[in-house]
Amino acid sequence: MSEEKFYFQTEAAELLNMMISSVYSNKDIFLRELISNASDALDKRRIECLKDSELADNTKPEIKIEADKDNHTLSISDNGIGMNRDELIKYLGTIAKSGTKEFLKAAKENKTQSELIGQFGVGFYSVFMAADKVEVITRRLGTSETFKFESDGRGSYTISESEQRPECGTTVKLFLKQDNANQDNDSESKNYADEWTIRGIISKYSDFISWPIVFNDKVINSQKAIWQRPESEITEDEYNEFYKHLTHDWREPLTHIKINAEGSTNFKGLLFIPTEAPFDLFMNPESGGISLYINRVFIMNDCKELIPGYMRFIRGVIDSEDLPLNISREILQDEPIIRVIRRSTQRKIFNELKKLLESDREKFIKFWVSFGKIMKEGIIQDREHSKNIFDIALFRTTYNDEWTTLSEYESRMKPDQEGIYCLAGRDNISALKASPKLEPYINKGYEVLLMTDPVDEVILTDANYILPAEAKKLLNIALDSVSPYSEDEKKANDEKIKSLESEFEALKKIALETFADKLEDVKPALNIESPAVLREGAQGLSLQMENLLRAAGQTPPAQKRILELNASHPVIKKLIALSDSGNKEKVSDMLKILYDQSLILEGAAPEDPVKFVKLIDELMTSSLGD
Ligand code: ADP
Repeated sequence: MSEEKFYFQTEAAELLNMMISSVYSNKDIFLRELISNASDALDKRRIECLKDSELADNTKPEIKIEADKDNHTLSISDNGIGMNRDELIKYLGTIAKSGTKEFLKAAKENKTQSELIGQFGVGFYSVFMAADKVEVITRRLGTSETFKFESDGRGSYTISESEQRPECGTTVKLFLKQDNANQDNDSESKNYADEWTIRGIISKYSDFISWPIVFNDKVINSQKAIWQRPESEITEDEYNEFYKHLTHDWREPLTHIKINAEGSTNFKGLLFIPTEAPFDLFMNPESGGISLYINRVFIMNDCKELIPGYMRFIRGVIDSEDLPLNISREILQDEPIIRVIRRSTQRKIFNELKKLLESDREKFIKFWVSFGKIMKEGIIQDREHSKNIFDIALFRTTYNDEWTTLSEYESRMKPDQEGIYCLAGRDNISALKASPKLEPYINKGYEVLLMTDPVDEVILTDANYILPAEAKKLLNIALDSVSPYSEDEKKANDEKIKSLESEFEALKKIALETFADKLEDVKPALNIESPAVLREGAQGLSLQMENLLRAAGQTPPAQKRILELNASHPVIKKLIALSDSGNKEKVSDMLKILYDQSLILEGAAPEDPVKFVKLIDELMTSSLGD
């Protein structure tokens, strides 16, 4: 096969450009990335050989580093799984990560690229921070052909067949940049062919790699599994580097959780909570995951049976002594030991999160902002632990601009308060704070929790079945059945409403005719300043819930709501007068505008935007005069 030329996929080329111009300040990490890839390749080879014994031979798995100071080259070799021609194109010519487009877009819009790049692992491409040119020679396990990939990272690469490697695996050879010292003028410029530079980087970033890293005929890493070492011995840096190896995330983790379970089932674990949701977390629920090890031997990553779905953002390792080495994904689910591990891991995570909430509120808020939405899914999915989630859940509130827990809310509750007042709405907190539904509560000095995640609606509907009987009820103030008033006040209000009813009669009639299929009732509103507010009937679906159902492809049942009109508002006063004088058409048009305005305040769109705009235009024309 002669040499073939290829062009990098557009996104890959863009990332490469960033690498070449070296926006990332710590160039050393290219070596960590290459060693990480070599280690993954050795893991994959082991697993493949376990499945197919014919592939197994007795070569000694290792990662080998060779440096040539005179010729300015550095090679990292492994005898792992290797790549065939198609895999070379697929893995090194494109970026398969979901979220790449989003990342690049953000990087372009944002001038601080170096910060952003740290949020997105560029893996192999980081070689171009240190090298002008790179050569990858690789032979896939179970094949006899060896291929060479060559590139200077500037748009294109070539692939050709190469002299056969004696065993499968990959060698990445870097032709090191030589003008670093002159060009960059920063203290980071190093000679990556220098023995002590290499040793320094490896001991800092890759010491825990479980395969031997051989340099000048000596193994230079301790290979100690970090989760097996006593906690007191491990530095924060070591945790961070291990996390980066494991996740290919370039940021530091927010926190780690060490598990050392002894008893009927023994296992160790090291879990991490990332700082922020990765770009693809919400798009790709597969991207999280816990790796399963048995007796220090890597078995599989993303072992879903070890952790519930609503903790899928947690990354890490669980290492068990009690499972058979040949365990397969298929039988994991029915494995009682796995269930025990899952339960105790879950318990540990809840405990640690509770501790974090108490000890470092700021850090916990960061965690909640990134992952609270996902954790809250568990309130519905995992009834056994919903209380645990409620205990750490943070909410926005009308009390102040901070976050609050339910128990903090409870400590501020008024003695006569029946439950926790809640209002769910669209994601925009300031819009929710302006909802006319809050007015009577705020006027009476009550605090209302403001819920802006889609899952909150479902929680509000179900919470009172889920929560233990003694827990304070969550009361959805969008419901007509929930009110801030005492029995006496309700009576007084009812009387007031009754006295207003005759005044309202004509207007109510027109409203009910205008919205025959949308309204079940029209009532005078009390104690609010806005002209109108829409409420759900006792069993009704809220607008948000309707939107959620629609988004999920369902057709929600037709809802009838209650329209409350504020008789002391000048607009309503005029409408009452107009209705009494029989100007039905005009009243009806104005009611349509009011109705749509209420929808807008709820975060919904007017049902007929064209009609809405037309009515407003007419209104403007008439108010501007001739
Ligand atoms: P990531 O490691 O985050 O997937 P990389 O850019 O580092 O991203 O690598 C892309 C892919 O190339 C890897 O997922 C792997 O499939 C393949 N690859 C990289 N290095 C090696 C290697 N030494 N041996 C085998 N495959 C490799």
